[in-house]
Amino acid sequence: MLARKQKVESAIAMLNSLHGAASKRVREILRLTLAALKTARVTTDEDFRQSSAQFEKLRKIELQVNELLKRYVGVMRVLCDESLGLVSWEPRPYRSDAEFRTVVVFMNLLAAGHFPSIGECACGTYFYARSTSWRFCSTKCRERFWENSEERKERKRQNARRYYWLHKTTNVK
Ligand SMILES: [Zn+2]
Repeated sequence: MLARKQKVESAIAMLNSLHGAASKRVREILRLTLAALKTARVTTDEDFRQSSAQFEKLRKIELQVNELLKRYVGVMRVLCDESLGLVSWEPRPYRSDAEFRTVVVFMNLLAAGHFPSIGECACGTYFYARSTSWRFCSTKCRERFWENSEERKERKRQNARRYYWLHKTTNVK
């Protein structure tokens, strides 16, 4: 059994070895699937029952990604090669197909609940995330995107207010 980190990193290496339209298609599938899983986490039973805006958002992503997945038609096969996972989906008709295999590997990771380990940086790079708070692929990206983010600006405003009140209270004393 490979460790989670190794599994995620090898899937990302497969993705990075794809080029052109194949790379674009798989990245779009991954982006939408992660968005669906993140949205599903904050969608409640009440949202489902009432078909709320949150539910509609989730359903829209689901339809979009399932449309893109239609092109990957496969059959399940038992393979005498443990590195391929013993049981695997093979494209139908059979051919050597790196794009198909990459989609299968990612879908298996996601089905096994590994999705929080697949980090998605604002620059479009995928990376192994030790925790969900790892949002950037590098220090360079963290500085570039975080410094300009709304979240960061809001925190700066809060700090300024806190400083003002702290200062004021100190002067009163
Ligand atoms: Zn990045």
